[in-house]
Amino acid sequence: MKCSLCKREAVYEARYSGSSLCEIHLRESVERRVRSEIRKQAGLGSSRTTIAVAVSGGKDSSVALYLMHKILSKRKNTEIFAVTVDEGINGYRDSGIESARKLCDRLGIEHNVLSFRETFGSTLDEIVEKDQETIPCSHCGPMRRDVMNRLAEEVEADYMALGINLDDYAQSVLMNVVKGDYERLIRMAPHENMREGMVRRILPLIRIPEKEAVLYAILSGIEYDHGWCPYFERAQRNSFRETVEKFEDEYPGSRFAILNFSEKLRKNSSLHSDGEIGKCTICGRPSSSEMCPVCRRMEKLKTR
Ligand code: SF4
Repeated sequence: MKCSLCKREAVYEARYSGSSLCEIHLRESVERRVRSEIRKQAGLGSSRTTIAVAVSGGKDSSVALYLMHKILSKRKNTEIFAVTVDEGINGYRDSGIESARKLCDRLGIEHNVLSFRETFGSTLDEIVEKDQETIPCSHCGPMRRDVMNRLAEEVEADYMALGINLDDYAQSVLMNVVKGDYERLIRMAPHENMREGMVRRILPLIRIPEKEAVLYAILSGIEYDHGWCPYFERAQRNSFRETVEKFEDEYPGSRFAILNFSEKLRKNSSLHSDGEIGKCTICGRPSSSEMCPVCRRMEKLKTR
């Protein structure tokens, strides 16, 4: 199989576009889409901008950090920090943090780590031990968002970049549709405007299918952690992952279609991600209800 753009051997077949790409053109294609998304989502002008990149040490966030650095490091008015959340998951998170640290050292980027233990007094493992009924990801998601916001505040970030790829994004859109959660669908990142007290999230890999992110990492010599979270099997997302894969297999281009559909929906919605937001009565952090989701969980766990 030859590359559609030159005579070299292709390393990848993109069924969604009908093209085959060699190593060089695949990397160029990934970089072009990421550059365009950064420009579109963060609209970097002449003013000073600080971006916190959330890095777990896995493939997507490592590729996101590497590309943000490659694309933005020559800009004098843009500063990049890496931030990592340590949930406290035995046998998993430590190796991810180590991979993130090594990549940051290689790129010369400051790396900031904050743990659930430091922030909430308990690790995720301890919380799961106390509450065995709740799916661990239901605890982990809001707590991680909270810690990431704290890290972004610490480095005074204007934006928080997340390594969410096209497959992840299509799964999240479908999850919100199936739950009938229109508000959450409309308020998904990337955020055009931001709610007071919260850092705008951008998704540089939103148009990069998972397989392309893996190939990009391998072809660019980016070392990442290959471990899987032990709670992954219980994640609700798994059935959506299978559904999106099945759609893509039967109808190539489905993931892009889901993304484009959600973008049009968000653009034409009267609901927006900006506007006033209240404060949690317990921790004082931004919250749309009296008690933020994290404090609600911690209060409930106290009774166990
Ligand atoms: Fe957290 Fe679930 Fe991801 Fe594990 S799989 S890190 S529990 S969100």
